[in-house]
Amino acid sequence: MTDRLSIVRENLQAVRQRIADAAGRAGRDPAGVRLVGVSKYVDAATSGLLVEAGCRALGESRPQQLWAKAAAAELAGADVEWHLIGHLQRNKVRQTLPVAALLHSVDSPRLLAAVQQAAQTLGLRARALLEVNCSGDPEKHGLAPDELEAVVASLPDFPAVQIDGLMTMAAREGGRSEAQSNFAELRELRDRVAASAPDGVTLSELSMGMSGDFEEAIAEGATLVRVGSALWDGLR
Ligand SMILES: *Cc1c(COP(=O)(O)O)cnc(C)c1O
Repeated sequence: MTDRLSIVRENLQAVRQRIADAAGRAGRDPAGVRLVGVSKYVDAATSGLLVEAGCRALGESRPQQLWAKAAAAELAGADVEWHLIGHLQRNKVRQTLPVAALLHSVDSPRLLAAVQQAAQTLGLRARALLEVNCSGDPEKHGLAPDELEAVVASLPDFPAVQIDGLMTMAAREGGRSEAQSNFAELRELRDRVAASAPDGVTLSELSMGMSGDFEEAIAEGATLVRVGSALWDGLR
């Protein structure tokens, strides 16, 4: 029988090496790039192997899966923080906030308002990123780039939500060079909007890059990369 933990360890080490190499090429400190291991492809027990191998942040794209994994016996007591990386429906905010350390995908003013309301009710401060649709793909969620400035200007109206930065997904088609220009656009947009943001809003986090394009994302300033497939190679 193949040792599943060893496979996950090797995959994690390979991904970390690629992160370090990409950071090195960009003249960045690798410690400035955090890996979110995307566990949506595997069950709770297998997700737990990645935590055992040393990955301390796991991402799920569906709220129900996030709730289930975070409550799973296989992950009980695990030293891990959960990230919601996919679309969040407003009727699922209340159940998600206590579980998620970071919401990567606040993609509309209505959702921002719902997060504010739920966080206030729960007596907590939600940490989140604003998702921007840089590729213009109508199938993708996210604020249009030209909507961002107004949303950021409105953040003082949402004191129970701490917006740490921005997230994007690259165009599905177009490969790595198209992805890199989407990532560059997110960074430039961040720089521009942060310059006029309300006090205390720095937008320092950029969540961008997946298995196929995280090196390009790191070259453009990613601080969080969301990697799934590359971590589960040989297991599925
Ligand atoms: C699935 C998913 C990822 C991971 O994608 P891989 O290509 O498997 O690394 C990253 N971000 C989001 C939002 C996802 O849904």
